[in-house]
Amino acid sequence: MNQTEKPTALIMIFGATGDLANRKLFPSLYQLYQKGNLDRFAVIGVARRSLTDEQFKQNVKDSVLSAENSSENIDEFISHFSYHSHDVTDSSSYTALNQLAEELDNRFKLNGNRIFYLAMAPEFFGTIAEHLKKDGLTNVKGFKRLVIEKPFGHDLESAKKLNKQIRTAFSENEIYRIDHYLGKEMVQNIEVIRFANAMFEPLWNNRYISNIQITSSEVLGVEERGRYYEKSGALRDMVQNHMLQMVALLAMEPPIRLTTDEIRSEKVRVLRSLRQVTGEDVGKYFVRGQYGEGVVNGEQLPAYRNEDMVDPESTTETFVAGKLMIDNFRWAGVPFYIRTGKRMLTKQTKIVIQFKDIPMNLYYQTEQTLAPNLLVIHIQPEEGITLHLNAKKFGQSLDATPVKMSFANKGINGMNTPEAYELLLFDCMRGDATNFTHWDEVALSWSFVDNISNAWRNMKETSFPNYESGKMGPQAAHELLEKDGFHWWPVTTLDVETCN
Ligand code: NAD
Repeated sequence: MNQTEKPTALIMIFGATGDLANRKLFPSLYQLYQKGNLDRFAVIGVARRSLTDEQFKQNVKDSVLSAENSSENIDEFISHFSYHSHDVTDSSSYTALNQLAEELDNRFKLNGNRIFYLAMAPEFFGTIAEHLKKDGLTNVKGFKRLVIEKPFGHDLESAKKLNKQIRTAFSENEIYRIDHYLGKEMVQNIEVIRFANAMFEPLWNNRYISNIQITSSEVLGVEERGRYYEKSGALRDMVQNHMLQMVALLAMEPPIRLTTDEIRSEKVRVLRSLRQVTGEDVGKYFVRGQYGEGVVNGEQLPAYRNEDMVDPESTTETFVAGKLMIDNFRWAGVPFYIRTGKRMLTKQTKIVIQFKDIPMNLYYQTEQTLAPNLLVIHIQPEEGITLHLNAKKFGQSLDATPVKMSFANKGINGMNTPEAYELLLFDCMRGDATNFTHWDEVALSWSFVDNISNAWRNMKETSFPNYESGKMGPQAAHELLEKDGFHWWPVTTLDVETCN
């Protein structure tokens, strides 16, 4: 399907009364509808709770109204929604669901195209996929696609098992594994910044870049997700997927074409080039942390171990910092530092590319050496780019001073960029899997991350908690860079300013 064609499909959302469906999926579908990006479509909400169609439509309406400023065409929009109360393990429930799907397919002329969106706990993914096939729901004359949320397994073994189950009903090119970071405007922009600018691509290698830093920090703690987080931790929750995906996009070779297969195969090559860190070496490359109590904005906050549904002696990490080495020709010797965590100073996702110093420095700024050139890509909450340069200080002297050139998406485009889920839903409906994760990427990411979690499991000493709430992680995360002669660029001082 080309960029201008509008998709037609029946979308079944499993977990339609849940948080994800209500906060993200319904408002995103409404946006697509309002922009005229949907042609013919219908949605079946599937969940355990017993609801009438009318109650469900009202839920959808409420979730759209609480997320959007507009209510234009809302009644027409919700007329495309139906509800099916469902037990995921019961075959008769799938038979009834199939009857409803066929009826809607005829009523809305959906050409037998079906998208199954699994917005529920991952332990159900395999069972649902198997039932969809066994009970005839995947037997359609149009396309069939499966959209699944993270986490995709909790290690390589469980991911393989899950993959085997879903592959009984869907082929790899029918599976859309969501990594919502890949739907973010500025993550998608990484490739454009790199491959559409003559001033960056020639410098994008170990001759000119000294290190790359990726920070994804949250201010919130674990909130009500303690039960899930205890089994996951920051390494599985953030590094295996979002952080490694950003590393792959930053480090990949230019694809020969901008097609799904070419882009994915370049990302896979990056993941294959990651230096595997095992056993005691893990301590040299990775730091883990867990938040203690602290005062943030005058509010006394509890330590992770005192949160709901958390073991008072938990050794789950709420923070990870790591040094990743990509052992290939382009990147040999350039560290990619990553850090992510909860209850940190600020909510930011940012990438800082630090360029090497020029060979000879003619200028001094008040007895300091020149500031390095930085390219900062602001992923969220601000979206934009800042380039840190040196320029002449105003006045008589020949001193240099750092200056920033910034571009802010919001300022330039005059509007908020679309929610990641809106872009990803649209991509899936159009059959574009570029911004979804291929199984090969999932498998390589898990094998890299499993080495780290295995080593951590064998190291008894954790001395948690080791960072105060409201701080940028433990001291060891700073030392990780200091021993290489670098430091984390402070995320709070790199604000986007709009250039006019
Ligand atoms: P949730 O607990 O809010 O909702 C779960 C949904 O599953 C509900 O609609 C519930 O009725 C349904 N359900 C549970 N058991 C069922 C059963 N036996 N039969 C039929 N339906 C059943 O969960 P959520 O926060 O919406 O998350 C859903 C998935 O999305 C999870 O895999 C989660 O990891 C992932 N995810 C969520 C978010 C988010 O922002 N909420 C973000 C990223 C990924």
